[in-house]
Amino acid sequence: MVMRSIVNCDLDEKWVLSRQIPTFYKEMFMWFKRLCPVPEPKTGQAVRKQIIWHNRAIMVNRQTISCKKMFEHDILIIDDIVDSEGVILSYELLMETYPTIRLNPLKYMGWCQAIPARWRRSLIGSAPLTVQERREDSMIETNGKQMPLTNLKSKFFYNKLVPCRAPTAQGRWVAEGADFGEDWHKVYEMAYKVTASTRLQSLQHRIIHRYFPNRRFLHTRQVIDDPFCDNCGEIDTMQHYFFECSYVRKFWRGLSSMLNERTDAAGTIEITCYNALFGGRQYANIVNCMILLAKQFIVTQHSHDTAPNMQAFRPVLSRMFDMEKTIAVKGSKVDEFRDRWKLFIRPGTLELLID
Ligand SMILES: [Zn+2]
Repeated sequence: MVMRSIVNCDLDEKWVLSRQIPTFYKEMFMWFKRLCPVPEPKTGQAVRKQIIWHNRAIMVNRQTISCKKMFEHDILIIDDIVDSEGVILSYELLMETYPTIRLNPLKYMGWCQAIPARWRRSLIGSAPLTVQERREDSMIETNGKQMPLTNLKSKFFYNKLVPCRAPTAQGRWVAEGADFGEDWHKVYEMAYKVTASTRLQSLQHRIIHRYFPNRRFLHTRQVIDDPFCDNCGEIDTMQHYFFECSYVRKFWRGLSSMLNERTDAAGTIEITCYNALFGGRQYANIVNCMILLAKQFIVTQHSHDTAPNMQAFRPVLSRMFDMEKTIAVKGSKVDEFRDRWKLFIRPGTLELLID
């Protein structure tokens, strides 16, 4: 009933917030009010369904009304105090209908006057609600569509509330010039599309969310004394660590020429800093997977204080190829495997072709 009143009526927020109810419900109520503005009842039937108590449309001396006695007699909605012609019951008729209520007639008449005149006009001639109508599921309007209240899932709120809150890191990337506009979701999905390796997915996740221990990150958190790269002395940002440092540039050039030799459209893969960090949206999955593997390789080499190079990377790539091949053969998924690796295998075979 409470949910229904929230959806159907402009329930008084001051009253709700003053209740002794858990904060969670109060917050939900405020969100609901924000997301689903209560529509003005346009027909007599809709007015009949309006809750009388604590409704912001029905105010006396700028306060919503409430009456415990009437509430206890199940008088909740306008339909309960309107006759079959759509006329609001006079005090005498109310007493006839609910003989056990004791009520101040002036107070009651004041409340009736407080019901908006436009509502009273719509009521005229409207038929009383049927039992079915009283039980009917309330509808809410979302994106111009009517939706039954009972169909609402938490996903509804999630979708309404979450998209407007981009992760903090995203804002930082945009400020640094990496703006993917409407395609940010592709950036987040990339690692999950191109590999099943949780290690690689996790690395990509940390890069996107800027939770990666380069020297600037550690310096900001006062773990180390300066943010400068051990190899070249520049500030060790994410861009620097993975791409701009002279320590890794040669490796990327090597990878880039290997990829370009193998791809059908030769010479089209130009690995820029942001393609290295986020993957290229136009690249085949296997290319993005290799770029991700290359970043993992940089991290490993860095921890051994060794500059990454193609010679050491090829065996790493071969291992990944062999592992995926074994899994594909065992799971009878050779065709998918061949399709995934098609740019890098000798035609008609399952041999990796990299040099
Ligand atoms: Zn450096």
